[in-house]
Formats: sequence, structure tokens, C-alpha cells
Amino acid sequence: MINEIEVIKTKNSKINEVDFSNLKFGSVFSDHMLECDFKDGKWQAPKVVPYAPISLDPAAKIFHYGQSVFEGMKAYKDADGNVLLFRPIDNVKRLNISSKRLAIPEIPENYFMDGLKTLLEVDEAWIPTQDGSSLYIRPFVFASGAGFHASPANEYKFIIATAPSGAYFSGEVRVLIEEKYSRSANGGVGYAKAGGNYAGQFYPTQLAIEKGYQQVIWTDDNTHEYIEEAGAMNIFVRINDTLITGPTSDRILDGITRKSIIELAESENINVEVRPLKVAEVVEAAKNGSLKEMFGAGTAAVISPISGFGYKGDDFELPKLEDTYASFLKKRITDIQTNKVEDPFGWRLQVK
Ligand SMILES: *Cc1c(COP(=O)(O)O)cnc(C)c1O
Repeated sequence: MINEIEVIKTKNSKINEVDFSNLKFGSVFSDHMLECDFKDGKWQAPKVVPYAPISLDPAAKIFHYGQSVFEGMKAYKDADGNVLLFRPIDNVKRLNISSKRLAIPEIPENYFMDGLKTLLEVDEAWIPTQDGSSLYIRPFVFASGAGFHASPANEYKFIIATAPSGAYFSGEVRVLIEEKYSRSANGGVGYAKAGGNYAGQFYPTQLAIEKGYQQVIWTDDNTHEYIEEAGAMNIFVRINDTLITGPTSDRILDGITRKSIIELAESENINVEVRPLKVAEVVEAAKNGSLKEMFGAGTAAVISPISGFGYKGDDFELPKLEDTYASFLKKRITDIQTNKVEDPFGWRLQVK
């Protein structure tokens, strides 16, 4: 149990230097961060401290063996000044699932939640209120313990840093369905939110960008015949009036936005199928006109509509519909997140 979290406040707030009406995504950071160290075999008491560079031993194992996991979540402030989180316990649990896979010690859930609440109290003024904006929260854990020996570190750092942010993507994205590279494999770490999963994606994504796409849609490593996910977002495809998304697995991250969309769509009587989805089925649907929408789902963008995709040298355009599931579901989710409507699911957590 931790009752009170120690707070060391900054003497030089940067808040007056920030243009809150013109925020990008995750590029300015709030005054404070939560810091918690694992040493002597246990997690020490978390503290709120000024946001500042940290000093690490050059032999810290994060640099050599990549033991690092993270989370992404958001805090919102409603019109009455209430501070809200969206399904935060799911982020805590997933961080520990990721940690376990990378042999990182799991963090006590109350260290995370009590620490985050204290941090949000201290930096409450950093939570933006403009439509579409939020305080992006980045919890992460990495191996700070030193040694060139290829084994798990004996010291770790857990940090929560936050960044007032505007919307993540502007406009629609064109994606390339990958035929060669893979982001994950059976038995691998694809289901973990591990930094290394991203490192492995950057190069193939650069190649896709050179070809005029913004993102890669990963396919299964074995056959490259099945749609998996977009690497920072899960993928939904609408064929006629059915919404389809692949099942989670060793290779696919269990997105909180994904599962919220599934529940929300079902509650709105939209037909949802969670099943393996072949690229060939999507191509066929694009050709015969039954492919209505594709979109990515993740905390940062919530829902990111896809305007077209490339596959094996061919390009396919999505129709421009008036009323999309994407915009309907995005509005429903963000209205719940920001306390504009009732939350029948119990997803919202008011922390102030
Ligand atoms: C974070 C992430 C997602 C989206 O998960 P949310 O919980 O909805 O934010 C999807 N895929 C990958 C690989 C991710 O890292």
C-alpha cells in the first residue's frame, strides 16, 4: 500500500510557453513525471518529480538488449473541470503482460494508478480542453541496470510522462499491405507493447512512405495472406454492413480501442465479425464494390479512416461515403471519453 506519494515540484513551470490552441501530438511535455525504481528486488515508492533528462549507465541493458515496454493512454477534462481516464486498469494490466514477456518485473497496480492520479493532480493545468485534444499519457518501463551480460537487468525504471496533444492524424491515410516484412511471429512478442516491435517496423514503413503510402498493414508472417494490424493500430474492415477485425493472438496487440469498438458497434446493432481476414477477401470486396470502409483503431487517433490501399503493385480506393461507421463510432467513443454522453459500459474513470 502507498498512501501518499511524494511530490517534488518544479520551480520553473513551462506552461506559459505552450500554445494550447496549436498542439501537435506528443511533442511538448508537462512539468512533471512519475518516477519509480526497481532495485534490491522490489519496486520502490513512486515519486512525482520535475520532468527532466535522466542519467543512465552506458551499460544499462535497455541500450543493449532492448528490455523496454510502454503504454499509451489519455486524460480528458470535461466542461465542468472533471478529469477523466478511459479504461485505465486495462492499460495497467497490459503493461504488466508486456513486462512479463520481456522478463521485466511487474509493477504493483496501485503504484501505477495512485502515481498517475497524483501526477494528474499536480499537472492538471496541462490537460487541454479544446475539442479533439487531450493529455496523452506515456507510461513506460525499461532496464536501467548495467552489465554487458546478456541477461535480464536487476534494476528498472518506471516513468509516466505526459504531453498535451491535439489530434494524432490529420485526414485519411493510404496504407500498403505488406508482402515481405513481418512485425511479429507466433511465439514472439507481437502482443506486447514492446519498444522493439516499433524499431522493427520503421524501415519497412520508410519504404512504404517512399512509395507514397503513410502506413503499413502487416500480414501474418507465415503466409502474408491474412490482415493483422497496422502496427500502432488495430484494423477494421467494413464489407457491406459487416464490420470485420482479426482475432487477437501472439502476433496482434489486444487494443483497448479495438475491443471498445467491438462492444460499442454490437450495442448499436452493427454486425461485427471477429475472424481471420484474408487480403484476397478485401481485394475481392474492393473490386466488386462491397468494401465500404477500412480504418485503424488506437488510443492516439481513436479511429483513423483509410482512403485506399496498395497490394502487389495495384492500388485500390475506398468509396467516399456520407455516413461512415468510422465517424459514427469515433464520435460515440470520444463522447463517452469526454463525458458528453452517458457511459453505459462503465469505461470512464473520473479521477477528479
Ligand atoms: C498500442 C497499440 C495498438 C492500439 O492499442 P490501444 O489500446 O487501442 O491504444 C495497436 N497495435 C499496436 C501494435 C500497439 O502498440
